[in-house]
Amino acid sequence: MPEHEVVRHYTEISLKNHHVDRALYPLGSCTMKYNPKVNEQMARLSGFAGLHPFAPAEAAQGALGLMHELGELLCEVAGMDSISLQPAAGAQGELTGVLLMRAYHRARGDEGRRRVLIPDSAHGTNPATVALAGFEVVELRSNEAGRLDLDSLRSVLDADVAGLMLTNPNTLGVFESEILEISELVHGSGGLMYMDGANLNALMGIARPGDMGYDIVHLNLHKTFSTPHGGGGPGAGPVAVKARLAPFLPTPGLKKEGESYALDWDRPESIGKIHGFYGNFGVLVRAYTYLRMLGRDGVRETAEAAVLNNAYMSARLEERFPLPYGRGMHESVYSGAELKRRTGVKTLDVAKRLLDYGFHAPTIYFPLIVSEALMTEPTETETREELDRYADALIAIADEAEHDPELVTGAPHATPVTRLDEGRAGRRLDVRWSFDNDA
Ligand SMILES: *Cc1c(COP(=O)(O)O)cnc(C)c1O
Repeated sequence: MPEHEVVRHYTEISLKNHHVDRALYPLGSCTMKYNPKVNEQMARLSGFAGLHPFAPAEAAQGALGLMHELGELLCEVAGMDSISLQPAAGAQGELTGVLLMRAYHRARGDEGRRRVLIPDSAHGTNPATVALAGFEVVELRSNEAGRLDLDSLRSVLDADVAGLMLTNPNTLGVFESEILEISELVHGSGGLMYMDGANLNALMGIARPGDMGYDIVHLNLHKTFSTPHGGGGPGAGPVAVKARLAPFLPTPGLKKEGESYALDWDRPESIGKIHGFYGNFGVLVRAYTYLRMLGRDGVRETAEAAVLNNAYMSARLEERFPLPYGRGMHESVYSGAELKRRTGVKTLDVAKRLLDYGFHAPTIYFPLIVSEALMTEPTETETREELDRYADALIAIADEAEHDPELVTGAPHATPVTRLDEGRAGRRLDVRWSFDNDA
C-alpha cells in the first residue's frame, strides 16, 4: 500500500474517535484538558526516550534529576514532605496509599484497624482499592449539601478504623469545607487521612491537601498535569505523604547527594515495589514540562480558570438540567430526572445524542447519589465560544426531548456504529479487526 494511503487510513480512523484535539471533552472527573504539544516534544527527546531502564545512575543523571525535581514540585503543590512517583495510575496510587496506611499501623503494633471509611459519593476505585488491600469498607452518608455527614462520621469512628478516604473537592465538585474538623476527628481516633487527589485541578496553587490535615494523597498526573489519557494509559499516580509515612514509601526512592542523584534502596520499612523500574517515566517528563511551563502563578490561574469555566457552564445549563447539590467547583453534576419524568428521555439518551453534535459524552450515572446524573467538567482549556457550543447543544437536546423524543432515544444517528450491547461487548470482548466486521 502506498504511504499516503496508509496515512489516510490512520487519519480516517483517528477521526472516527473523539479526542480533545477535535472538540470539548466534558467527561467529568477525568479532567480531559488540552495537552500541550511541547510536553510530547520533551518526552520524545532521545536522551529521555532512548534511556535504558537498566542504565546505571551515573549514566541517567538527567532523568533522575528530572524525577527528583518533579517530586519536589509536586510535594510543594500538595503540601507534603515525601513522594513516590512509581504508581502507574490513580487507582494504583490508591492501592499504594492504603498499603502505606496498613504499614504505618502495623509498625506501631496497631493491628486491629480493619476498616476504611469512604463516603457514598466516592469514585468506584476507592472501595475496590480498600477491598484489594484487605480492609473492610464502611460507607458514610453525604448530607443535603453533598458533603460528608459529620454525624455519620462520628458514629463509626473507633479503634477499628485505619483511616478515611476523602476526595476533595468530592466527586460532586463540592469542597469539603469542614475538612479541618474531619481531619481532627479522624486523627483523634488514631486513623489516617487519605485524599483521592484526582480533583486537584480545582485547587492547585490555591489550597494544599497537606494543610487540610491529609496524611496521604495521590495525584493523577495524566489528568491534572496533562498527559493524553482516555485510551487506557499510560498514566502516573504519584503518592505524596507527610514525613511520618515516608519510611514506608515504595523502593527505590530517589535521593540527592551533593550535586548528583542516586536511587535509594535503603528503606527497610518500605511496602516494596509497586511498579517496574520507576513508573511511567514519559508521563513524568510531560508533567515536569507542564509544571515548568506554567510556573507558580500559572498553576494557580489554571485552577481558577477551571472553576470559572465550570461556573459559567453551570449558569448556562442549570435551568434545563437542575443541580441537586448546587454548582460544583471544577465540575457539576446535573440531573436528568425531571426531563425523564416529563419526556421519557433518559440521561443515557441525552449523552448519546451529544455524539451527533460532535462532542464526547459527559460522565453519566455517576456519582451514584444523583439520579439520572450527567456530570460535566469543562476544564480551563476551553474558550467561552466552545463552552457555549456545548451548552447550546445540551439545551437543543432538551428541546428535542420535549418535541421529538424519538430523535433523542434513537441517537446517535451520525456515528459509524450506533448503540452497542455494552453488556455483551464486555463479556465477549473482540478487539480484532477483520474484513467481516468492517460494516
Ligand atoms: C480518575 C479517578 C480515579 C482513578 O484514577 P485512574 O488514573 O483512572 O486510575 C480515582 N478517583 C477519582 C475521583 C477519579 O476521578
